[in-house]
Amino acid sequence: MEYEVIIGLEVHAELSTKTKIYCGCSTEFGGDPNTHCCPVCTGMPGALPVLNEKVVEYAVRAGLATNCEIARESKQDRKNYFYPDTPRAYQISQFDLPLCEHGHVEINVGESNKTIGITRIHIEDDAGKLVHDGYTGGSLVDLNRAGVPLIEIVSEPDMRSAEEAVAYVEKLKGILEYIGVSDCKMQEGSLRADVNLSIRPVGQEKFGTRTETKNLNSFRSIARCIEFEIARQKSVLESGGVILQETRRWDDEAGEGYAMRAKEEANDYRYFPEPDLMPIKLSDEYIQNIKDTLPELPESRRNRYINEIGLPEYDAGIITSSKHLSDFFEAAAAVCRNAKAVSNWIMTDIIRVAKEKGVEYNELPFTAENLAKLIMLIDKGTISSAIAKKVFEEMVETGANPEKIVEEKGLVQISDEGAIKEVVDKIVAANPQSVADYKAGKDRALGFLVGQCMKEMKGKGNPQILNKFILEHLNK
Ligand code: ADP
Ligand code: MG
Ligand code: ZN
Repeated sequence: MEYEVIIGLEVHAELSTKTKIYCGCSTEFGGDPNTHCCPVCTGMPGALPVLNEKVVEYAVRAGLATNCEIARESKQDRKNYFYPDTPRAYQISQFDLPLCEHGHVEINVGESNKTIGITRIHIEDDAGKLVHDGYTGGSLVDLNRAGVPLIEIVSEPDMRSAEEAVAYVEKLKGILEYIGVSDCKMQEGSLRADVNLSIRPVGQEKFGTRTETKNLNSFRSIARCIEFEIARQKSVLESGGVILQETRRWDDEAGEGYAMRAKEEANDYRYFPEPDLMPIKLSDEYIQNIKDTLPELPESRRNRYINEIGLPEYDAGIITSSKHLSDFFEAAAAVCRNAKAVSNWIMTDIIRVAKEKGVEYNELPFTAENLAKLIMLIDKGTISSAIAKKVFEEMVETGANPEKIVEEKGLVQISDEGAIKEVVDKIVAANPQSVADYKAGKDRALGFLVGQCMKEMKGKGNPQILNKFILEHLNK
């Protein structure tokens, strides 16, 4: 039987406010255990929460950037459950009146675009962290993360494949980075996704029973978990079984998921309005002010790169998927005024270097200005593109100014016609067979001769002039 896959995601993003959601403690990642804590975020009885205004502002920014309606009145609710990393034994979240609802984002998969609905975005506090201690055989609790603000972005069940799910999370990550509300460092857990997935026979309208796999924190594990869960559900159905609605975990090392708990057992959170916090009331003016400060979003940048600069759709999509990369592109293009060349360097060498070094695009070893200078050296004819590649590798290692590298290593291109002609005459005289080949119609012989001349000139010969002189010989 043919099945259709239905996926809906719940994405949690830690907000990059300086302080926690209900107290003044630092949100900084890491730190010695239990050093960013106070009576409020450690859940001491009687300690009262005070809502951090920035959290509301950031969540509204996220809502506006994803085309949501912003609630003029919302509230916070207690979600009761016991877990050792949550000393209050409840999380403060939002139940029936979230801050943002009814949004959507556009994703680009291959050649086509698709709209993914966003059901809601609400604010809540993060839990602490359990540190499983091999030495004592027990677990330790670190509450530095307890009370760090989160937004939870719940999607409609609109995705149909792992590829679409990854494209959706990439899009959200890009948007949140652009609007500056989260650093979205997946490896530090500041962006993580729960995957809800079901399958149904093609043609059937009713959704199948879904499972929810919690806390995936890389694109790779999202994709692998989805493929695994599709195969598992298919094999259950095909062997005559039924899918149980359950919460699952993904073990990235083993490459497989496993059931954690049945949904029915765990789902009664006894939500009730948080009595220690006032409802959140927002004026039209407040929302408009936030709207006015939103920066240009990736979708708009992408269109601008395609229509105004003439970048291929694919390249524009890749460059704008990361704010850091797109900012780098704009900064370099503004200096050298050759956006296409900047784009080419990004698509080939810069993405590769970032991958090799395992760094974000704002942590590259060289500046956008230095890339621009490198491009200007080529455009002015000071160095050849072959030499530029060597200079670039040096920049990757040392971050040095390309003008300095070229000067210190004596890499300036030779454009002196007399000097070039001398080399060409010598190489042509030494390779009569290549000349004969070219005349017999073998165009490759030209490339060979150019290569020989370049070698003789240690890569520094001006290729246009070289070509001109060689062709003069060949066409005699
Ligand atoms: P819960 O709190 O039980 O996790 P939510 O309403 O917060 O429920 O989230 C449900 C998520 O599951 C949403 O992203 C939704 O799109 C998705 N979803 C709901 N039904 C299905 C289904 N049958 N198959 C796949 N995803 C589903
Ligand atoms: Mg859920
Ligand atoms: Zn605190």
